[in-house]
Amino acid sequence: GIRHCSSMFKANDLQVTMTTSPRTPLPPDKLVFGKTFTDHMLSVSFSEERWGKPSISPLRNLSLHPAVPALNYSMQLFEGMKAFYGEDGNIRMFRPQLNMSRMRRTAMRACLPDFSEVELLECVRRLVELEKKWVPKSNISSLYIRPVYIGTETSLGVAPTSRALLYVILSPVGPYFPQGGFQPVSLLADPKFVRSWHGGVGDFKMGGNYNPTILVQNEAQRKGCQQVLWLHGPRQNLTEAGTMNIFIYWTNASGEEELVTPPLDGLILPGVIRQSLVELVKRQGKIKMSEREVSMEEFMAAMSEDRVKEMFGSGTACVVCPISKIVYNGKDLHIPTMKHGAPLASSFLKELNDIQYGRTQSDWTYVV
Ligand code: PMP
Repeated sequence: GIRHCSSMFKANDLQVTMTTSPRTPLPPDKLVFGKTFTDHMLSVSFSEERWGKPSISPLRNLSLHPAVPALNYSMQLFEGMKAFYGEDGNIRMFRPQLNMSRMRRTAMRACLPDFSEVELLECVRRLVELEKKWVPKSNISSLYIRPVYIGTETSLGVAPTSRALLYVILSPVGPYFPQGGFQPVSLLADPKFVRSWHGGVGDFKMGGNYNPTILVQNEAQRKGCQQVLWLHGPRQNLTEAGTMNIFIYWTNASGEEELVTPPLDGLILPGVIRQSLVELVKRQGKIKMSEREVSMEEFMAAMSEDRVKEMFGSGTACVVCPISKIVYNGKDLHIPTMKHGAPLASSFLKELNDIQYGRTQSDWTYVV
């Protein structure tokens, strides 16, 4: 394939053009996820075997030839992370280095030109710093950061692209749980829908993985569920829920208290929050932390023997989200997550929120 490593863009070369018509942010309670954007964007393009200079400029529409691989073959990937306004007035990001390396790993899978994770993160930091008035001054809201990377060569060939565009847009977001409380979700588990497979790309953050989930999500809603529980394979292993990794806190078949989450076997997105919870539980050493497969049969047995204590999803959007019901084979499985107020899930939410909003010192934060 084409080797794209001859140049890396540098944050030091950033060119900044400010808008002449700055807008005023909406109050956080008026925000609908992903519908409001800040005044500026970051962009940097690759062509003729080299990166151009990165720029911060007023948010604008893109102009693309209709033949570009981004539009024809989903040569596209993205990331999702957040910046938080801390009680000390500092703005922090949560482990953004992990998002940068996941993005670069996806870029390699998509045959898009390589870039420096360190330089991109510094460009993102500069963008967020310049847009700091858009980070909601609230301990339940945040600024969502969306890096996107697309192939832009004018060619219908199914081949690596000689042109690419990497850009970053910002969107202030309100609370995930609007009433402030912990709102549990229900999931539809139907093995006829498959999100990923071994040897596929389910563990990469490519846009092409997400479009096919929308119809299934609609099906879940039609059946009275909020999200989809993705099952995999003949044993119907539980993999992910919607755009969240999953955790089950139970007494396992050997009688041990265990927190279990599906393994990074290529079927699931390696979530930043997933990794953080796994590290946290291992560091605390109080509960056994396992990354392994869980089949629907194993889960049903635990349900019928009353061994399941809590089940929850993890992700940037919610941090942790309790799961209260699974609809499987036309039956409702009521999960007792909220029975005692989800003590484990809520302690994780508090612990990570405290780090994100700067109430707890941690080397997981990156100060803007
Ligand atoms: N799984 C999928 C399919 C996702 O889209 C996301 C959101 N990025 C996650 C899991 C959670 O990942 P993270 O903790 O990095 O937000």
